[in-house]
Amino acid sequence: MRIVQKYGGTSVGDVPRIEAVAQRIKATYDKGHQVAVVVSARAGMTNELLKRARAVNPEPNERELDVLLSIGEQETIALMAMALHALGVPAVSCTGSQAGIRTDVAHTRARITDIEADALRPSLEARSVVVVAGFQGVTANGHTTTLGRGGSDLSAVALAAVLKADLCQIYTDVDGVYTADPRLVSHARKIPHIAYEEMLELAACGSRVMQARAVEFAQKYKVPFEVRSSFNHNAGTMVKDRVRSMEDVVVTGVALAPHQVKVTVSGLPDQPGSAAKVFQALGESDVIVDMIVQNIGHKGRANLTFTVDRDAATRAEKAARRAAEALGGGTAFCTGEVAKLSVVGVGMRSHSGVAATLFKALAEAGVNIQIIATSEIKIEVAIDADQAVRALRIVHAAFELGDDSAA
Ligand code: ASP
Ligand code: MG
Repeated sequence: MRIVQKYGGTSVGDVPRIEAVAQRIKATYDKGHQVAVVVSARAGMTNELLKRARAVNPEPNERELDVLLSIGEQETIALMAMALHALGVPAVSCTGSQAGIRTDVAHTRARITDIEADALRPSLEARSVVVVAGFQGVTANGHTTTLGRGGSDLSAVALAAVLKADLCQIYTDVDGVYTADPRLVSHARKIPHIAYEEMLELAACGSRVMQARAVEFAQKYKVPFEVRSSFNHNAGTMVKDRVRSMEDVVVTGVALAPHQVKVTVSGLPDQPGSAAKVFQALGESDVIVDMIVQNIGHKGRANLTFTVDRDAATRAEKAARRAAEALGGGTAFCTGEVAKLSVVGVGMRSHSGVAATLFKALAEAGVNIQIIATSEIKIEVAIDADQAVRALRIVHAAFELGDDSAA
């Protein structure tokens, strides 16, 4: 079999962890499999590098930032290859560029445009483990790029796709995907099988197991993968295309996106094209907008409110304000931090009453709902950030998602 394994930052956090991972890789290799390994920077390294960049320049140039951030993964590939050599396993390290991972030029959040499959194949076929630096790629002109935070997951899934791997395993510091973040909800249960679309909703809702873009990519190219822990041998969660039996479960999981900011645009002319102008400006500033509500116009003026990630709040406020002013008389402000709580499940398509259960649970807990948004398989609400964790626990219980024996 051809197997792609990805090890995240905590899995390669220090020398003993690297040695432990090398042992795991050896065990797979010794069974006769071809093994490509994608690794992250050790835990904390990328943040440290970012901090140093901001210390020398509060607004570091993004091309240079990518040159800097890519060294985190480069440290890990070399050490991992050396650790494998120490165990007698032939291994070779590859940067993103050496692995043929081509991207567009959007520094710090580049998209993979293609991967040269032949770059790694000869080594794999010669029975060498290849250790690939996650999170990084190269533009057509040879500039180093990075794929956005958590981007090693994307590197792994994309490699699994081009190498036509039989198995893709994402090793992390949690046992799999849970009905809620087990750090916040103590009796959350591990989900054995989950559909891409559910995983995607959970990731987009702040379930920090995996990078959302990686899951999107896996769905698009139909790469089934397993999320599991590098700290034990427990079975993980299989993420794959939806199958019928998944719909028997109404709600699969609940998630919290804690740091969201509401931006309110006020005084917009209540006419066709106003919203288009505002969101065009946001798009041009690379702001990803999440929930949107527009109020009914009054005296020819309308207000709208949207939410964005806290990191994008200033950019969003500026872009929206510029657009609103250009439209005549409008303005925009950040109007407070909220948390987004989401209830997800493909079973919602064929079961009713999910909204009622959610709203009743929040009402009984005295939690006010500020914005509601829905999709076919998700209901989400923006609520007060201070009440978020309590609300999550209450909603998890209301849908009886917990492991009763542990409760
Ligand atoms: N080292 C990068 C980050 O911390 C990429 C990754 O770990 O997936 O975001
Ligand atoms: Mg990661």
